[in-house]
Amino acid sequence: MSGSGKTLSEFEIISRYFIHDTGAHNAAVELGIGDDCALLSIPAGQRLAVSIDTAIEGRHFPVAAPAADVAYRTVAAAASDLAAMGAKPVAATLALSLPEVNELWLAAFSQGFKQALQDFGLVLMGGDTTKGPLVITVQVHGLVPNDKALLRSAAKVGDAVFVSGYLGDAAAALKVFSGELALESAQSEYLRQRFYRPQPRLALGQALLPIANSAIDISDGLLADLGHIAQRSGMAAEINIEQLPLSPVLSSLPDRLLWQRLALTGGDDYELCFTVPPAQVDLIQTIAEQQNLPLTRIGSVVTGEGVRCLDAQGNVVSLDATGYQHF
Ligand code: ADP
Ligand code: MG
Repeated sequence: MSGSGKTLSEFEIISRYFIHDTGAHNAAVELGIGDDCALLSIPAGQRLAVSIDTAIEGRHFPVAAPAADVAYRTVAAAASDLAAMGAKPVAATLALSLPEVNELWLAAFSQGFKQALQDFGLVLMGGDTTKGPLVITVQVHGLVPNDKALLRSAAKVGDAVFVSGYLGDAAAALKVFSGELALESAQSEYLRQRFYRPQPRLALGQALLPIANSAIDISDGLLADLGHIAQRSGMAAEINIEQLPLSPVLSSLPDRLLWQRLALTGGDDYELCFTVPPAQVDLIQTIAEQQNLPLTRIGSVVTGEGVRCLDAQGNVVSLDATGYQHF
């Protein structure tokens, strides 16, 4: 329902909320919103990297979540795939299904969306607007050099396995939202930001292009996502649970095993997991300092299949629904 009582048409929605004049330009976008297609021109020596992500209310974000946050998080999740490929962001398209025309909601959504575009260097070049359940689909387009990209399939035996940032924060945020975890306000605000305002590691992905053998972004949880690298590379990975990077907030809480388990299995952190050949490992610390981002070695690529977790003594640890089982 619009504030004025008159429902906006699809075209009014688009021109009011989605033709952002952010002043941002990208030379690759020859023609943006307004025609039947957008036109992209790909510079010589580059390839187009494309990825799409859908967020459904009640499934990917809580029902009645703040619109600006939902918008920001959806763009961030999509841009994170560009980061994991080493691609430089260019442009996005947005398919928006809305149950009703609520201008307060749309204004907040548009503001969060625009902020994310600016933060990640994307231009909105088109989209689709329909009536239906609240579903937000964002497609992102980026550029990678012809001769390089960070694939899942190129990890080698002996590579060091690294992760960026901290793991488990977004999963812990869900416990705060559900009331299962009660924290002081600065701590819950930190976790809330980590869930709703993830920072796709775009600069890191591009810096890793000449260095890393493989990379993936952590959207489903470290075990699952590192498992994809292992499987696609025909390798196994061994990681040490004591080396998993936990944020100062999670480190300060009792029940360390619970947070380690969230760091292994919780999704939505949008950090990068990547593997680096031994000769390049020393460069990682320099990148961490340049980017002011922790980059933590958590294990190695070995022969075999799957992901094995080790404790501090090097014993294999297995996970079940209730926690760790040592054997
Ligand atoms: P068509 O009917 O040809 O698919 P539309 O009428 O859906 O075109 O859209 C008109 C223009 O507005 C197109 O350029 C389209 O990309 C753009 N557009 C539609 N919805 C959105 C949106 N939510 N965000 C950005 N651009 C949009
Ligand atoms: Mg058309």
